[in-house]
Amino acid sequence: MSETGFCPELSADVREVRDWVHEFAATVVRPAGAEWDEREETPWPVIQEAAKIGLYSLDFFAQQWFEPSGLGLIVAFEELFWGDAGIGLSIVGTGLAAAALSASGTSEQMGEWLPQMFGTPDDIKLGAFCASEPDAGSDVGAIRTRAVYDEASGDWILNGVKTWATNGGIANVHVVVASVDPSLGTRGQATFVVPPGTPGLSMGQKFKKHGIRASHTAEVVLDNVRLPGSCLLGGKEKLDARLARVREGGRSGEQAALRTFETTRPSVAAMAVGIARAGFEYARDYAREREQFGRKIGENQAIAFLLADMATRVDVARLMTWRAAWMARNGRSFNQAEGSMCKLVAGETAVWVTEQAIQILGGAGYTREHPVERFHRDAKIYTIFEGTSEIQRLIIGRAVTGLPVR
Ligand SMILES: Cc1cc2nc3c(=O)[nH]c(=O)nc-3n(C[C@H](O)[C@H](O)[C@H](O)COP(=O)(O)OP(=O)(O)OC[C@H]3O[C@@H](n4cnc5c(N)ncnc54)[C@H](O)[C@@H]3O)c2cc1C
Repeated sequence: MSETGFCPELSADVREVRDWVHEFAATVVRPAGAEWDEREETPWPVIQEAAKIGLYSLDFFAQQWFEPSGLGLIVAFEELFWGDAGIGLSIVGTGLAAAALSASGTSEQMGEWLPQMFGTPDDIKLGAFCASEPDAGSDVGAIRTRAVYDEASGDWILNGVKTWATNGGIANVHVVVASVDPSLGTRGQATFVVPPGTPGLSMGQKFKKHGIRASHTAEVVLDNVRLPGSCLLGGKEKLDARLARVREGGRSGEQAALRTFETTRPSVAAMAVGIARAGFEYARDYAREREQFGRKIGENQAIAFLLADMATRVDVARLMTWRAAWMARNGRSFNQAEGSMCKLVAGETAVWVTEQAIQILGGAGYTREHPVERFHRDAKIYTIFEGTSEIQRLIIGRAVTGLPVR
């Protein structure tokens, strides 16, 4: 674990990553954004381009995850999502599944499954993380998918329906959260890896969405999915010991799970910062050019002040995101739920800034002739997934009051 003070000045290495991803975002991702939004399909050729340059690769994710300042992935995500959020999520969705696998998997499990999530530039693959269910969204303790252990074979048998899974059903490797003992809520759950081609896993309906339409979101049906014991992340011995502690009244695992979420939220926040910045920059450039009443619209204080607030709020969101990412990398405790704070602020900022961008473009902003309406549709998911804004406030509220806020 590195021990560097928080510094908002990026190291030369991180600047290099930022500029490299920016170049890809500006030349490949942004120009393709409108087309894949309309097609509402996974942009395989763009993911392949990203794989060819090494951006869509396990190496890149691993290297940047361990970058000493904690800001490597964060700046990469901001740039990529500045390019386009739907395509961005198609490129990093696997990374979110990989993070879930790494949070509970052994090093053997990571060694086996992470490379299969990414594939190779000639044969790209995806990963999917499946936790949410029709009746278990914010309330993850209500997960009904059951994992039952078959003593005779040592296999696990999974049954249930997952929903809203990014890359669900088209991924090579699915990471699935299931309940081993429903009476214990979240503490009775375990995470499994479902290997490629496992019988019983199929895609349910694919959702048509408001935004991030290039990113595939679908149901995943698990019908008597039989998995060898080695697919239980962390192994059975560890699970049995944890369940025994919980049954004896311990609070086993809860703190660790909360910490994992705090450490991954900055990367989600960084995506929202990228969208917000894209909206601000587009509106600023428009306001410098568009003339009404014989002057640039940006010369009106009403517009310039709005742009001032937009720029300021993007910076606030970015700095909070960088702080939380640095805290995660340096093992700091999230006493005020700073990870949730940055996700809350970045998500709300992205929605607000992109809405103001539409306003600044007027009628043009409301059409698909300009990308700001797409930025706005894309931004909205950031107040919903990876914990809604209300759930972030719940977590922050509990952290700052010490009360069991509900
Ligand atoms: C495009 C997309 C991609 C997604 N990708 C994935 C994925 O890859 N893997 C995955 O597992 N999930 C994924 N999700 C699911 C996502 O995380 C959930 O949608 C989210 O957690 C909210 O759950 P819900 O939709 O069931 O809403 P609900 O939990 O039903 O919430 C509805 C409303 O009630 C509010 N609410 C709920 N409980 C409380 C409370 N206690 N206090 C105050 N307000 C409350 C919520 O904030 C929200 O406003 C994705 C969702 C979408 C739309």
